Amino acid sequence: MRCVFGKSIRSLVFDLDGTLYACPEIGTQIERAAVLLIAENHGLSQAHARRVLQDARRMLAETPGELPPLSRTCLELGLDLRDFVRVLEEKAHPENYLQPDRDLEALLRFLQSRYGLYVYTNNGFFLARRILALLGVEDCFRHIYSLEFAWRPKPDAEALQSLLAEIGGLPDSFLFVGDRYHVDLREPANLGIAVFPVTDPGDLMQLPSLLGDTS
Ligand SMILES: [Mg+2]
Repeated sequence: MRCVFGKSIRSLVFDLDGTLYACPEIGTQIERAAVLLIAENHGLSQAHARRVLQDARRMLAETPGELPPLSRTCLELGLDLRDFVRVLEEKAHPENYLQPDRDLEALLRFLQSRYGLYVYTNNGFFLARRILALLGVEDCFRHIYSLEFAWRPKPDAEALQSLLAEIGGLPDSFLFVGDRYHVDLREPANLGIAVFPVTDPGDLMQLPSLLGDTS
């Protein structure tokens, strides 16, 4: 047994896309939705809107390679995040790609018996809930903190503070889990919160041993 994180952890906060599941096709659909929204709002062709989006993401990257999330980029391009959520719901079809993940469900049920589990995502609430339902893990979480929670996409220190206050507990009672360090984990790490970066949802299976839990 390998226990890396402190015994004081009570709440596990998971990113959704790329963390609880990996599906490039859904990522492509989400990006296409953002392109359509930019084209619609600025009266551009889709090809032009795609270039605008790509250029904006590159310009907003604080460090080369650390692209900002689509939601934040849309916000910076003057779009209404409510429209972003609406277009995501219309254009993303996770039901075409996802199916119940029994290993993930078993892991989350095990963790759920010991910790409060939460999702913190830049996705809209209904799309996030649909994805979790398709994976068969919808009822494992106490709450889904989606874009609607604060209308401030990750990474955002203020939204993070609101989330921590709502869940409650000292910084050492949290563990944040995510696939993009600069989006999901840097802000919590700055507060002294434990973080677990994953490159693949399969990495999540290490959590029980890292938390010092035996089955
Ligand atoms: Mg992610």
